[in-house]
Amino acid sequence: MKSFAVVTIFPELFHAYFGMSIMKRAADKGLVRFGVFNQRDFAEGRHKVVDDYPYGGGPGMVMKPEPLFRAVEHVKSDGVPTRVILMSPQGRVFTQAEAKGLALDSGRLLFLAGRYEGVDERVLSLVDDELSIGDYVLTGGELPALVIIDAVVRLIPGALGDEESSAEESFQAGTLDFPHYTRPAEWMGMKVPEALLSGNHAEIARWRRKQALKRTLARRPELLEKETLSAQDMKLLKEIKEEEYGHD
Ligand code: SAM
Repeated sequence: MKSFAVVTIFPELFHAYFGMSIMKRAADKGLVRFGVFNQRDFAEGRHKVVDDYPYGGGPGMVMKPEPLFRAVEHVKSDGVPTRVILMSPQGRVFTQAEAKGLALDSGRLLFLAGRYEGVDERVLSLVDDELSIGDYVLTGGELPALVIIDAVVRLIPGALGDEESSAEESFQAGTLDFPHYTRPAEWMGMKVPEALLSGNHAEIARWRRKQALKRTLARRPELLEKETLSAQDMKLLKEIKEEEYGHD
């Protein structure tokens, strides 16, 4: 069972997300366990203060180190090997490749969700990894932690139902996903491509792969440069380039 833990001042956000859809199903199936720890429970005093003014002055508050040190110590006290991951816009940018790596990590993943101007720099001594979900600044680390946990849970075998699969999703197979259609076969003059209505599995697979390659070439060509393409992919790309530009 894969174990995820978070330390946060907003535990209810996590309970809400973990209590629905694929996250809930994965937990109900015993594939994952979620532990949500309230940072305030590790703060001292009647007011359970978790932030303080910055040394050196300036606007904003900083998350105090003591509650975070105590929370991490508490989570780790059961001896389960734990990777501590701080959410930070200054961290390494999270990708599907990172998600695959975290899904393979056999230990517990413990996420620290910052707030305010961030955490006291000394907290970094507790941290194995700093991850960012992109080059923008959010109000807190809760959404980034949920983004990462969601992406990792989807990759755990059995977390998605039989009818769903992560294997062909964008980035998994080195390309973007192919276009999807459902009924009706025609809507406002827009028709579902013939190949998908054919019932011919080989033809459908070929159409989908070709569309995935075409989309990736148009939107994210750099992904194809990193990928080792099969002879069939090369043939499809040649066809696409001839159709689009009249030559390959
Ligand atoms: N002062 C920090 C800076 O400029 O780097 C930004 C602090 S931000 C307002 C508060 C918290 O939100 C951060 O400590 C971090 O936990 C989280 N956060 C914000 N943007 C993020 C991002 N792109 N990726 C991951 N975490 C982020």
